[in-house]
Amino acid sequence: MGKVIAVTNQKGGVGKTTTSVNLAAALAVAEQKVLVVDIDPQGNATMGLGYDKKVQETTVYQVLTGEVSPASATLGPIDEAKNGPDLIPSNSNLSGAEIELVDQENRDRRLRRALVEAQESYDYILIDCPPSLNLLTVNALVAAHSALIPIQCEYYALEGLSQLMEVIQRIRRKANPELRVEGLLLTMYDSRNNLANQVSEEVRSHFGRKVYETTIPRNVRLGEAPSFGMPVIYYDALCRGSASYLDLAQELMGCGVPA
Ligand code: ADP
Ligand code: MG
Repeated sequence: MGKVIAVTNQKGGVGKTTTSVNLAAALAVAEQKVLVVDIDPQGNATMGLGYDKKVQETTVYQVLTGEVSPASATLGPIDEAKNGPDLIPSNSNLSGAEIELVDQENRDRRLRRALVEAQESYDYILIDCPPSLNLLTVNALVAAHSALIPIQCEYYALEGLSQLMEVIQRIRRKANPELRVEGLLLTMYDSRNNLANQVSEEVRSHFGRKVYETTIPRNVRLGEAPSFGMPVIYYDALCRGSASYLDLAQELMGCGVPA
């Protein structure tokens, strides 16, 4: 049975998509079978894995409405030679889903129900959430075993975090008692920046061992890779961004942090 992880933070631009795409690819390098579920209407994870979001007719939208099974919405790695992650894509069609789902029964359990079957085929399923605490994010958290929360090492980094923790607790009480916090991930870290160091210390002193030892550095290659439609390890395997996501994969799998 695969582990379902929602990569979530209602703030935009904190590194959710970068983490979903690159952690998925790093787990695949470690010979794990991985599925990325793009549940953001912006479709950035879809593009980041090399697919043109505009031409996708079958997306996570039809999976949520129950029109298609997850398996029939799943795309294989675009470069078949590389044993990369599979993808359930998304695009702007999904922005209507919230409104459509609102009146429907079990509207917050649609993704959970759909992913039960998919869990048998994967070791990890990473859900790339939108930058909002909307019904799509709730679907992801109800479907997930855990939440992985990227935190950008910038001013206001902690803003909104207590609200996110409250939502996680509420979902745990009402719909998904197993939901836990997988870990907090410091992203876009620049050790030369005093503020980044302060934020990092503050997050670590507040959340202790819930914070991954692995920190994702600010790295130009990580920012460039999506425009080539590939995870950073295919683009520049030796850059610091690649190394950091490979470390994170090891830490997540419980192998400790490589020295
Ligand atoms: P989110 O999904 O939370 O909105 P993204 O992963 O899309 O955030 O990241 C926001 C922007 O920052 C993107 O342009 C991305 O390429 C860039 N970015 C993310 N992480 C890094 C990093 N560690 N170093 C450099 N650029 C990054
Ligand atoms: Mg995103």
